[in-house]
Amino acid sequence: MAEKTALILGGGHGGLAVANQLRRALPPEHRVVVVERQSIFYMCGFNMRLMDGEMKDRREGERELSGLAQKGIEWVHGEILEIDPQARRVRTSSGTLEGDYLIIALGAEKVAGTIPGFAESAQNLYESEGALRLYRSLQEFDSGRAVVLICRTPFSCPAAPYEAAFLMDSTFRSRGNRNKVEIGIYTPEPRPMPAAGPNMGEAVIGMLKERDIKYYPQQKLQKIESGRRQILFEGGQAYFDLLVGIPPHAAPKVVREAGLTDETGWIPVDPATLETRYPGVFALGDVTSVRQPNPTGLFLPKAWVFADEQSRVIARNIAAQLRGEEKSDRFDGKGFCYLEVGNGLAAYGSGNFYAYPTARVYLELPSPGHHQERKRIELEQLETLA
Ligand SMILES: Cc1cc2nc3c(=O)[nH]c(=O)nc-3n(C[C@H](O)[C@H](O)[C@H](O)COP(=O)(O)OP(=O)(O)OC[C@H]3O[C@@H](n4cnc5c(N)ncnc54)[C@H](O)[C@@H]3O)c2cc1C
Repeated sequence: MAEKTALILGGGHGGLAVANQLRRALPPEHRVVVVERQSIFYMCGFNMRLMDGEMKDRREGERELSGLAQKGIEWVHGEILEIDPQARRVRTSSGTLEGDYLIIALGAEKVAGTIPGFAESAQNLYESEGALRLYRSLQEFDSGRAVVLICRTPFSCPAAPYEAAFLMDSTFRSRGNRNKVEIGIYTPEPRPMPAAGPNMGEAVIGMLKERDIKYYPQQKLQKIESGRRQILFEGGQAYFDLLVGIPPHAAPKVVREAGLTDETGWIPVDPATLETRYPGVFALGDVTSVRQPNPTGLFLPKAWVFADEQSRVIARNIAAQLRGEEKSDRFDGKGFCYLEVGNGLAAYGSGNFYAYPTARVYLELPSPGHHQERKRIELEQLETLA
């Protein structure tokens, strides 16, 4: 069989997952090439452990991409400057590359700079330095109003802001000053994690109430006034002494300029096969807008658990096509997530995000077992991906 090349754009969670799956599924004469500008892989989920003090140094959660060569995966270290989906060709800072298959896994850019006042006021949970700084602030914060602010939807890991609020609650309880701190979450969402369906939303609201964490849904952010410590929303404002920010997200510029995105600003794909409107061009993970194929039409959350499952479907279908068989594998929308609540406990949600007429995801109560299981799975991901 003639040698084929699978060209993977982005060596984050989705890109590495699909590279590993393809390498396992394809005979060795076919090339698997990953283009990534960074030289290390870091699991963003570890930010929760940095914030909690369970992890002290981000390097514990990093792996060098140079290790990919041992697995037969080629890594091109470079910035992708231009994508031509029709020709399945990319221009990079390390030269021009072409693939028989193009798999786009370029993630979501965090564009904190688009919110006036964010950089001056907020601790950015979505950057590892921000999570570490937040850990130190929580050790020093004695009394006042601690706020978690979700700037815009969609954002990666819909559970993370709620985990941040739970972890603040548990930190202040262990420090003995919870009664002097008010905790609130402000979000444009109508309820927590709406794409997971009503059961999940109600379960999380119940957990917030139990811990006296105030919840303010449907808050459309305008700006943050850092001097006055005020957040301005359409039709209201809120005061903060400590602000944890979830920055707005956007598809990378190179993806937008390639004409791959639709009116949502993300790449539309077939919800079952992840193929874009260009044959042989797939997209997975945070850069996509995958609509739930049920009447809600909500977007699938941006989370690695989905990127991981999507990578299997893409790899099996490419392998089948190269064998001359039908591409018959389909992504079924099943997924899971953990919700850290502090003190070594985590709740666990799982279910079907493609269920009819709405996603059906159920939450199991916090336990030490779920916390340990999450740690085990994350470490396993780190070891197997890079
Ligand atoms: C705080 C936090 C906690 C999270 N917790 C969880 C969790 O518990 N469970 C879960 O399922 N998900 C979680 N997530 C979400 C998860 O990290 C993402 O869904 C996942 O990383 C998406 O993978 P991806 O490949 O689409 O994007 P990414 O992992 O972001 O990878 C994109 C890659 O593309 C590269 N890239 C971008 N542009 C270019 C360019 N022009 N040239 C070259 N390279 C480029 C980037 O450097 C990056 O490495 C969390 C996220 C955060 C921020």
